[in-house]
Amino acid sequence: MNRCPSMLAPTPTQGGCLSRLRLVGGRASSLQLEGILEWIKDGEIEITRRGNLQHRSLLPPTPLVLQKLQDLKLIGSPETDQLRNIMLSPMAGIDTKMVMDTSLWAKEWEKYLQDHRELKDLSAKFSIGFDGGETVSITHLLNDVLVSAIDPASVVIFLSDPVGVVVPVQEVIDVLQTIVFLYMNFTKAATTKPRLKEMVANYGIESVWHRVEQKLGKKFDRLSKLTDKNPSFSCLGVFHQNNDAYFAIGVAIPSSRLAAMELQKLKQIADRFGTGELRFTPWQSILIPFVHRSFVAESLKQITEMNLSVTDQPPITACAGLACNSSFTDTQTNAKELSQQTKARSITIHLSGCARLCAYSIPHHFLAIGVSPGVYALYHDQKKLTECTDRELLTVVANYQNLPKANLSATKI
Ligand code: SF4
Repeated sequence: MNRCPSMLAPTPTQGGCLSRLRLVGGRASSLQLEGILEWIKDGEIEITRRGNLQHRSLLPPTPLVLQKLQDLKLIGSPETDQLRNIMLSPMAGIDTKMVMDTSLWAKEWEKYLQDHRELKDLSAKFSIGFDGGETVSITHLLNDVLVSAIDPASVVIFLSDPVGVVVPVQEVIDVLQTIVFLYMNFTKAATTKPRLKEMVANYGIESVWHRVEQKLGKKFDRLSKLTDKNPSFSCLGVFHQNNDAYFAIGVAIPSSRLAAMELQKLKQIADRFGTGELRFTPWQSILIPFVHRSFVAESLKQITEMNLSVTDQPPITACAGLACNSSFTDTQTNAKELSQQTKARSITIHLSGCARLCAYSIPHHFLAIGVSPGVYALYHDQKKLTECTDRELLTVVANYQNLPKANLSATKI
């Protein structure tokens, strides 16, 4: 079964299907949001860990909806739509500390995918992240290729390996195309669709860079990746933009889900006080950019009236649970049952229906993973504490409530 749903190829789920809309850089304009609202009707959307949008429905999107979304450039060509996995910092282009605006590269890469339908054979998980040196950083998030700005004239490109190459900005797209050329050849020789990291493991990173250099007739300096000392685990609050008059407001989205009415309301706030654009983040929150300073207070008031927060991470998050065929546990129902109690006890927890952890993106005290029907394994700081049934979960978690909050990388197993 195709494990990566798209708009043109939804995956079947228990009682319906799941469609995924790939937003380039997580961004949607006001007009595009109208199309998204038409698509989900009175349903809800789920924000994924790549800032994409998923929607569960009984039936796949109609041809009319697909055409509308295609006209709005929310769906790519039928052959390569599934490859539009392009991540940007939500603050790309507006961050006060950024070295360069990466949104132009995202557009260029989107066009490249659109124009090169022969790439259809690549793994649908092939992904690129463009980091412009923003304060809200995506450098530690998973991407097959990371293009990271060093200064206004150069970037370093990494491929699932700590050793990257330093490339002048004007040659970035050429290098990316060459990497994809090698990856295509590797894919053609394989029986299944390999991930890029398999090519790197097979050739060795130095051999990959050597092949890129040979094809382009150039040499690139090597640079080793440094550990990100300040990885971003959220994009919440009020951020100064690089233009003094404007701010961006990051809103937490409980359980990473929004009903159509809520999305409509956030769109209205963005239309009225910003440019109408919403940015869906890899931390499953929403950023409203370009809010003029004279409208920040009113925007915050209206967000609070929606019972949404710009400071608090949701204490409990959960993946799709039984709506997904892989789930052992009813994470959504269990999350609702736990939500009040966890708040009262200042405990935060993520519930995952299986070990794939699709929806796990922010730090929590605990991680509960479905391991058999109705049974969770409970983790803290990479250590498995115990296994328990969904009925016992709260009591078991309460027993461990004095443990410190672990950071994301430490909690991830
Ligand atoms: S974590 Fe597992 S159960 Fe949950 S949505 Fe992902 S694949 Fe499905």
